[in-house]
Amino acid sequence: MRITLLGTGDAVGTPKIGCKCPACLDAKKGGKSRRYRPGILVTDGKLNVMIETGPDLRSQLLDNDIERIDAVVWSHQHRDHTGGFGDFWRVKSNMPVYGEKQVLDYVLGEFHFMSFDRHDCELYRPFMIGELEFTLFEVTHPPIRMATGMRIRHNGKTLVYTGDTNRQIPSESMAIMMDPDLLIADAIVPPHINIDKHMNAADAMNLAMETRAKTTLLTHIAHLFPPHEEAARTYPLGYDGMIIDL
Ligand SMILES: [Zn+2]
Ligand SMILES: [Zn+2]
Ligand SMILES: [Zn+2]
Repeated sequence: MRITLLGTGDAVGTPKIGCKCPACLDAKKGGKSRRYRPGILVTDGKLNVMIETGPDLRSQLLDNDIERIDAVVWSHQHRDHTGGFGDFWRVKSNMPVYGEKQVLDYVLGEFHFMSFDRHDCELYRPFMIGELEFTLFEVTHPPIRMATGMRIRHNGKTLVYTGDTNRQIPSESMAIMMDPDLLIADAIVPPHINIDKHMNAADAMNLAMETRAKTTLLTHIAHLFPPHEEAARTYPLGYDGMIIDL
């Protein structure tokens, strides 16, 4: 499967409006410090599946010459992961959308003016989109009650995406996160900062070790990291436009 990171930023994106920190100043020059809100494209070679539809969706698709999305999967209801769904207005009707029931209830309630083909997914029960096997698992992202990560398998390769979570991931979820070829992990801030609804970079690297991930990429990166080239010497930060073939 081919994985394209379309948005590796947090809810405010980098640069943050009005900010003059080193990462934001570097991002204004247009390099890898510049980060759109969350979005990952996964394809089996035939279908293009969009994980999350953040508020930068339209720009993400245009910048990366992606002409078609065949399905959408949401991890949770937060607007930085859903706010761009309206960009499919007059572009694609009846989009197949997948997620846990509470997540879909909330998101589709917000986008009631859109047409969609709704697929409620049970936690821990695999489902197929084309040749990609998805399994949603519960994570911990207070104060919302339901947030999920997902495991995606194709041709013997496994991708695990944590979604937004802190390090208190239920053991039932940990069991299906083990031994991924690639772990894409929420790491919103460097290790010296703690935010109770997200992992910091130390939490994420600890999770990578516990799950025995072959490769790890950190995402949901805030402007509080140093500029990308400097931070990437210490942490395996993803960047917008990064392509990984598994
Ligand atoms: Zn900043
Ligand atoms: Zn969130
Ligand atoms: Zn988020």
